[in-house]
Amino acid sequence: MQHTVLVTGGAGYIGSHTTRQLLHAGHRVVVVDNLYSGNKWAVPEQAVFVELDSGNRAAVCRLMHEHDVTAVIHFAGHIVVPESVSDPAKYYGNNVVNSLQMIQACRDAGVRHFIFSSSAAVYGTPATIPVGEEADTAPINPYGFSKLTTEWMLQDLSHSDRINNKPAGECFNHVALRYFNVAGAALDGSLGQATPDATHLIKVACEAACGKRDQIAIFGTDYDTEDGTCVRDYIHVEDLAKAHVTALEYLRNGGQCQTLNCGYGRGFSVRQVLDTVQKVSNAELNLIEAPRRPGDPPILIADKTKIHEVLNWRPDYDDLELICDTAYKWERNLVKFQKRHRDQTKAG
Ligand code: UDP
Repeated sequence: MQHTVLVTGGAGYIGSHTTRQLLHAGHRVVVVDNLYSGNKWAVPEQAVFVELDSGNRAAVCRLMHEHDVTAVIHFAGHIVVPESVSDPAKYYGNNVVNSLQMIQACRDAGVRHFIFSSSAAVYGTPATIPVGEEADTAPINPYGFSKLTTEWMLQDLSHSDRINNKPAGECFNHVALRYFNVAGAALDGSLGQATPDATHLIKVACEAACGKRDQIAIFGTDYDTEDGTCVRDYIHVEDLAKAHVTALEYLRNGGQCQTLNCGYGRGFSVRQVLDTVQKVSNAELNLIEAPRRPGDPPILIADKTKIHEVLNWRPDYDDLELICDTAYKWERNLVKFQKRHRDQTKAG
């Protein structure tokens, strides 16, 4: 049976990849995006696109009724850690207050299934690696706190339906997906990250490889890791998008609330990533050794056991070279791509 899924932030990086996969799986999709950092051209034509703030509870609720929405995937949010430190109100406003409005719109409209973009930032600097979902949550920046607060809101609201003895078929159910380091692009080069002023390592390195930046800073070379640089669990965006589609099926089949890590369970250092970008691009990067960036844990790797067990999710692209190669090819095409869409918009 076809369902209608409302995707907030569906014009953004992970949201647009997920929208594509949802359509491919036969779902109808309504994208709600205020285009703060997303691009309308990233939304597939088969999706309904509404330029709207996800915090507009009344308008969102109307949309849900109008399109018979039965599930929400909530991507919309700010994602830049250093910015969250310098402007925390912006993060609590958009990531917490607007998320609450969205959750309340779901309850107003009787939408019971909710998938939330959370982050490994909720762990802060984990005591154990790989880090499992039961580990202490101790964010070290407002971004991480904003994600954790929304997880708590979802847990409490889901719980309240049960203690209020709502029938099981009417209870609000959610899955919070804690993303590790998302990167890469569509294998055919047709979609990828277009976020302006990107700060994430693979995106920044690909921009440098394409000549869009003169140099790339390595933030910290004295960590207690094999080569002194930070280690992260890089996951291909298509595998992450698939986790959302799978989580949706899980909730529809009666699955209970879950919090799940989304990572591959292995890590690469900053230097290994930069070597790989140089290899796939055949470009020599101008690497600068810089001081540590505040708020960076030395190592962050997912324990993937739970998502494998609960969703039976298996990655297709667990390959750093493929991740960097697709990201680089996308970056190379991006300028041409944006120009073509500007021209089409003018002509249309
Ligand atoms: N990093 C870096 N130079 C950059 C961007 C990132 O050395 O220009 C490092 C960063 O300090 C961290 C790792 O790359 O150790 C991953 O950072 P990113 O911002 O990509 O993701 P995060 O782990 O902070 O979510």
